Amino acid sequence: MNKIIYFSFASLAFITIIAIVYFRKKKLKTIEIKIFTKILILTILCLVFEILSAFPFMNSILWLKLFLKKLFLISMFLLVVNYFKYTIILIKGINYTFSKIEKIIINSVEIIVSLAILVTSLHLNVGDDGVVINSYGLAQSIGSMASMGIIVIIMILLLINIKKLTSRRAIPLLFLVILMFCAGYIQILFPSILLINFCLSFVAVIMSMTIENPDLKIIEQLNIARDTAEKANEAKTDFLSNMSHEIRTPLNAIVGFSNLLLEDESVPDSAKDEVRDIVMASDNLLEIVNGILDISKIEANKLEIVNTEYSLKKLCDELVSLSRGRLGDKPIEFKTKFDPSIPDVLYGDSTRIKQICVNILTNAIKYTKEGWIEFKISGIIKNDVCRLIISVEDTGIGIKKENIDKLFNKFERIDLEDNITIEGTGLGLAITKKLVELMNGKIVVQSVFGKGSKFTVSIDQRIVKNPTIKLDEEINSEEKTIINNKRVLLVDDNKINLKVAEKLLESYGIDTESVDSGFVAIEKIQNNEKYDMILLDDMMPKMSGVETLKKLKEIPGFNITTIALTANALTGMKEKYLSEGFDDYLAKPINKDELNRIINKYLNND
Ligand code: ADP
Repeated sequence: MNKIIYFSFASLAFITIIAIVYFRKKKLKTIEIKIFTKILILTILCLVFEILSAFPFMNSILWLKLFLKKLFLISMFLLVVNYFKYTIILIKGINYTFSKIEKIIINSVEIIVSLAILVTSLHLNVGDDGVVINSYGLAQSIGSMASMGIIVIIMILLLINIKKLTSRRAIPLLFLVILMFCAGYIQILFPSILLINFCLSFVAVIMSMTIENPDLKIIEQLNIARDTAEKANEAKTDFLSNMSHEIRTPLNAIVGFSNLLLEDESVPDSAKDEVRDIVMASDNLLEIVNGILDISKIEANKLEIVNTEYSLKKLCDELVSLSRGRLGDKPIEFKTKFDPSIPDVLYGDSTRIKQICVNILTNAIKYTKEGWIEFKISGIIKNDVCRLIISVEDTGIGIKKENIDKLFNKFERIDLEDNITIEGTGLGLAITKKLVELMNGKIVVQSVFGKGSKFTVSIDQRIVKNPTIKLDEEINSEEKTIINNKRVLLVDDNKINLKVAEKLLESYGIDTESVDSGFVAIEKIQNNEKYDMILLDDMMPKMSGVETLKKLKEIPGFNITTIALTANALTGMKEKYLSEGFDDYLAKPINKDELNRIINKYLNND
């Protein structure tokens, strides 16, 4: 027996072990894995046919020997075709599927070449010692030429797409092509050395241990799935951010002009009622947009708790006046109880604490027809931490026992048939719970159906002993003062928004000048035009507000108060704009009280 056949024996033993391990592993069902499975099986078949035909006793059963040789040639060809398919997948991407026509062409070539090898003649070249040196004949030529032809096609495809092939996957294929050429050349020079099979199994083994390793492939797929999910989530967040911007921009006009109409003395009272309804409807719409943004931010882990020093008393005052306003003329007594031992200044996220309280207070107002609502805050002080116990109790419709667990699910509304007239999205409590948890707090509900409910939130806040904020700085934001001799530059690419801001500021007696881009604003400042404040929109084409401010700050002597005015309300915006160098932040739609605060803070010299 040809001693070189030991190569094939060793290869067969090795690749069989590898194949057993490979087939026992859990695999994905991708087309690439299917092709590689065929490659492994065909490599083993090539080796089996080659070894069987090389046994000495085969010399006496010549027809069987020739038949095995032919089977070897066919499996070798099919193996090379599968490497070709693998190359195509590599180039086109793992999600590529062969079209019907491509499949028909490939299958036809496989059948025609296999049949041609089977029916044409094959002869054996026997040496003087009776040992078969090699085989020749039409079948041999068809098998070798077809296989070599496909190897050449693989090589050309790899070379043409070399730039695309950045993946590690291309390496074994390049290796295969080079080895096959070398092995083919050696076999022509020394026909008795059976190297091709050895090379093929060598490449298959390397592939199964590296790039085609099922475990690595599953991890790879998991990574791809995670990346895709992350991208989809980012796209959703981007979409929501854009949607928020798009909805807020027209809302700004609706809210701004409606508020101006309410103040306009020439508008008859009957019309004012309708304008009030417009304001209320816009406020509801804004709350829905904000709710959707908040929940998506929380789900994308993008909601950050921003801790600052704040006055709890001021926060409570705001909440009480807001709730009283929302009660309208409902026959409900609004009771408050604030623990006087709670320190004046605490350190925490007052915006989010306010949001939590607003949500449960608004629910109490919404779901109570008559009776009373009690808003109570008590504190438990331990070292430098104050545990705030905030509770809102009502004599409202109450919640059935079986519904308590569902309360905090997003978009879940309870007893919808009874509450159909009460507006809501079912997001409030879902957001509230997440916010409380983000602050390491707890929320509990006690309720008796038909009698009333009590929502209790507990959150730890640090006590600030030496506050840096001034408690007496508070300016009554309700009061509108007339401010003379002040000039404000308005920068916004949206004409309606400019008009809203102009009218709102003019109602304070403030002079305004409007420009529609950062470029014009910079030009004005460079030309030494004097302003007391700049209201700068951020999302503008070509040059954003942030970029404009950067350029403005480069102008020597520039020290005008600049306020970011933006409909972009997605991520902790106020902090973002302050860190970009803005003096303050005003969200669109412009809230009257916020505008009042800003005007009083920066333009009111008294
Ligand atoms: P929304 O109020 O927008 O429907 P929420 O998430 O704030 O959504 O509340 C979810 C549900 O919990 C409400 O639909 C309501 O049925 C119930 N609920 C919340 N607060 C109260 C309350 N104080 N009294 C009675 N039911 C309430």
